[in-house]
Amino acid sequence: MQLHWKIIIGLVAGVIFGFFSSINNLGTFSTNYIAPFGTIFLNLLKLIAVPLVVSSLITGVASLSDTSKLSRIGLKTISLYLITTAIAVTIGLLLVNIIEPGNYVPDSYQEFLSEDSTSQAFDKKQQANTLKESRGPLQPLVDMVPSNALNAMSNNSNMLQVVFFSIIFGLAIIGIDKKFSQPVLSFLEGINQTIIRLVELIMNFAPFGVFALIVKTFSTISGDLGYITGILQALLIYMSVVILGLLSHVMITYTTLLKFFSNIKLKDFFSKMIPVQLVAFSTSSSGATLPVTMKRCEKDLGVNEEISSFVLPLGATINMDGTALYQGVAAVFIAQALGIDLTISNQFTIVATAVLASIGTAGVPGAGVVMLIIILEAINVPSEGIALILGVDRILDMIRTSANVTGDAAIATIIDSSEKS
Ligand code: ASP
Repeated sequence: MQLHWKIIIGLVAGVIFGFFSSINNLGTFSTNYIAPFGTIFLNLLKLIAVPLVVSSLITGVASLSDTSKLSRIGLKTISLYLITTAIAVTIGLLLVNIIEPGNYVPDSYQEFLSEDSTSQAFDKKQQANTLKESRGPLQPLVDMVPSNALNAMSNNSNMLQVVFFSIIFGLAIIGIDKKFSQPVLSFLEGINQTIIRLVELIMNFAPFGVFALIVKTFSTISGDLGYITGILQALLIYMSVVILGLLSHVMITYTTLLKFFSNIKLKDFFSKMIPVQLVAFSTSSSGATLPVTMKRCEKDLGVNEEISSFVLPLGATINMDGTALYQGVAAVFIAQALGIDLTISNQFTIVATAVLASIGTAGVPGAGVVMLIIILEAINVPSEGIALILGVDRILDMIRTSANVTGDAAIATIIDSSEKS
């Protein structure tokens, strides 16, 4: 049986068992005996992310015969990332303005939302405030340059710093005598091959890991369902808008780009992406999915390592089309629910801030909702409004993360084709 079928079985079994365990009060059993396997799977993926990025990026950059290629690839990557993210938010905004899911929220909820009603919403607000306080306009640039390479590598959330270090290290290797550079490169190449083999081994465990992660997530989600009933209809419509937007973005934007700007067959692209999307879905983390995305792109889609090792880690940190689309829909949904009319200029502000926010959003579960607060504040909508959507946020997080990683892989494939032609 193909791996993705096994993962799908694990996923479906996880959903069923997750709901079953919360209905039958088996929560403690799940937490004690099932959830840990999910955590182990997640940790195994995170464990290899930094060595994989370092070894493949350094060898990739060092093998560039001409260094101007790096700036060309960089420029293309960042432009495509920004353009596709802006398209994603626009699709989200179009749908949410046409369907208006917020109008289905009963008026009685407005009062509930305008107070600092849930402690969860309050926590997220605190997180957003700390984020904002520490950020001057040039802070993202400063953040990219680590003051200690080992320190940067000791934490998966410093991926941009790791990318920066690996690029300058790779560039410096080009300039030294072969006698010195060769052993370093052979060593890193060996590490790279070993890690790719490790990804294969870890993925054998994926069906069980996915099962365990999903059991944990779904028993928590069903716990949240109580408060949701009063606004069920509105939330269902809101979720459908986000999902429809994500599907449209993947099926229209990426499909068109891949069709016209890559040599790959669409069918091949999407079938090879299934395991990547399933891992993203169950981990809700682009960062944790990165090793799987890299392996699939290199081994199955034939993306050149020097491209994938640069484009994909960067994408996992700064390219979040799914997140940006969701943020656009959620911001307008909350405004509609609170009876706040948004002007066209507000909508432009959403596009601009969502594109920037998605760059600043870390590839970890739930990061998108924290950045959503910054968007709400930019358009003067009370950020307590996020209380409305928190209960269903995890499920949307799973879906938007799948869209995020698909976007990274699509752009890597397109850039690879453009360099080969
Ligand atoms: N979980 C998302 C990711 O890792 C980020 C977010 O939207 O919360 O891509």
